Amino acid sequence: MFSKILIANRGEIACRVIKTARRLGVKTVAVYSDADAGARHVAMADEAVHIGGSAARESYLVVDKILDAARRTGAQAVHPGYGFLSENAAFAESCGKAGIVFIGPPPSAIRAMGSKSEAKKIMEKARVPLVPGYHGDDQSPALLAKEAAGIGFPVLIKASAGGGGTGMRVVEAADKFGSALEGAKREAKASFADDHVLIEKYLTRPRHIEIQVFADGHGDCVYLFERDCSIQRRHQKVIEEAPAPNMDPARRKAMGEAAVAAAKAIGYVGAGTVEFIANQDGTFYFMEMNTRLQVEHPVTEAITGQDLVEWQLLVAAGGKLPLRQEELRIDGHAVEVRLYAEDPARNFLPSTGTLVHLRLPRENAHVRVDTGVREGDTVSPFYDPMIAKVIVHDRDRTSAMRRMAALMAATEVVGVTTNSALLEALCSHPAFVGGEVDTGFIERYRADLLPKPAPADDRTFAVATLARIAEWTPASSDPWDLKNGFRLLEIGHDEVRWKDGEREATVIVRRLRDGKLRLELPGGSVDATVKRARDGRLAIGLGNDTFEASIVRRAALDGGVDYTVFAGGGGRRLRLVDPLDVTQYEATAADETAVRSPLPGKIIDLKVKAGDSVSKGQPLLVLEAMKMEHTLNAPIDGKIKSVRYAVGEQVVEGADLVEFETG
Ligand code: ADP
Repeated sequence: MFSKILIANRGEIACRVIKTARRLGVKTVAVYSDADAGARHVAMADEAVHIGGSAARESYLVVDKILDAARRTGAQAVHPGYGFLSENAAFAESCGKAGIVFIGPPPSAIRAMGSKSEAKKIMEKARVPLVPGYHGDDQSPALLAKEAAGIGFPVLIKASAGGGGTGMRVVEAADKFGSALEGAKREAKASFADDHVLIEKYLTRPRHIEIQVFADGHGDCVYLFERDCSIQRRHQKVIEEAPAPNMDPARRKAMGEAAVAAAKAIGYVGAGTVEFIANQDGTFYFMEMNTRLQVEHPVTEAITGQDLVEWQLLVAAGGKLPLRQEELRIDGHAVEVRLYAEDPARNFLPSTGTLVHLRLPRENAHVRVDTGVREGDTVSPFYDPMIAKVIVHDRDRTSAMRRMAALMAATEVVGVTTNSALLEALCSHPAFVGGEVDTGFIERYRADLLPKPAPADDRTFAVATLARIAEWTPASSDPWDLKNGFRLLEIGHDEVRWKDGEREATVIVRRLRDGKLRLELPGGSVDATVKRARDGRLAIGLGNDTFEASIVRRAALDGGVDYTVFAGGGGRRLRLVDPLDVTQYEATAADETAVRSPLPGKIIDLKVKAGDSVSKGQPLLVLEAMKMEHTLNAPIDGKIKSVRYAVGEQVVEGADLVEFETG
């Protein structure tokens, strides 16, 4: 086994690899970019090496910098994670030349699977079933159109070099083929500098089922069963599970053996995934092979009880596979959701910002959380906006989904928009829970899964109001215990005004003799109590209901004050109208540790750099937006932790521009 490895990645996967390495007594070296100086993976590793600018092409994608870091720290092997250099054959080769072990397959295997067209040719020879289609070298539009007609519409055009759903076009009929082909080629050229395409029969309501394979350098190869990754948005996975619903043992064996044949055909070593597209009747076809550890590997780990990163290290160090095929078993059911900083209502647009409040599920025997961020970290525009993967393992699928839905309902994130409500809706959707799975699921049930935002309910107004009035309570042994401290204004009642989007609502608060409060809410009156609970939460009584809630109070970009209420089932934001207490607002503003861009624009001057100490009101930078120059000043006295952009760069509204040291 190695004594020290370098992880050429960031985020949750870097943290996840470090965890296993530490358990095995292997020392770890992290690498990081400017934006990641304070990142979780850097804090977790035994050593860390700064490798360059925030943009991946200046750091995580620079082969020489990574090899240099490995040499300088004496790392014997490099784990590439997924993404970045993980499927870069030249990188794997350079590692070999530098005498450093690449924890992954041989460069030739990466190359063989790098082009979807070439991969199909190899699979054809290995007798692995292929989707009816064309993957030849002749790329003339006339020939491609003729092939498409021969396959029969609808067809799918795919970039051979594609990934992440880029360069794909569905074509419904012959007269649309020409323009779709142009579009796919244009996109492929821009993204992969290669406009070679292939054509496939477009399956309706297909499932994405993939097989985890593992091979060692001694000629053994096993499959660790399947994962169903059919729940997708924009052809990207959102929920993955193992085993696949409605899979019968004979088909599992057939798919597993086809995947092993695929791996053997290219002399594979290490962890790999063979992706199949399957019809509802179970017939399946090879789609592609990913020559690395997949994002969704934890569901396989859960049902097999194995640690795939441990297997990777063992195999890379020259060892044999720890188990034979007949020793592998499936135990229960596992599901993984990808919690993303993105807005499902705006076509899944990534959302950036500081995670000012983050409550992820707690890990236990059923629950695993893989994350690369902590509260206070930033989701920057530089990298994938995934906040965490939450994995549940339970005795059966129904129990796993029920548990996951509850976890998503209790997940609290403030600072970025997330897909937690969508994930909760998916895991509790009767059709999905009933076993309906295909790649069109989210689109088909869009109305159920992404309901139009309903007006805030009385409970939300009540909780926000209770949090608000508790702030006015004079200090006492327990300032939140309103029986002791809370005093109303002279007139015997008070009002708190809220804005829910455009709608304004006033809540009247009256103190009753027994120390209780009565709230007059939009929907009627209710008696209420409030006390401080664990974790900064409030224990609230409303009528006959008692529950705990989190309330996050935050100054917004425009100077207003927002309250985000978590009282079961996702966060709800209300704007406080005319805060009476201006000093409190300033205190909250000063809590901010980042200066965000108030408008989309361009940085035209930077007056500070990381490490500078500044005083409140001092100019930090100049932004050109809407044909005007805006100087952004320091909101507090403090030390600059990082400056996220350079002069000349475009920034989006709300982008974190300058970050302050905290504490
Ligand atoms: P990428 O490498 O860009 O992710 P894939 O070939 O893995 O592309 O396909 C991504 C997704 O596109 C699949 O999971 C599936 O949802 C859809 N897809 C791919 N091929 C087909 C097909 N022939 N018919 C229908 N859907 C397909």
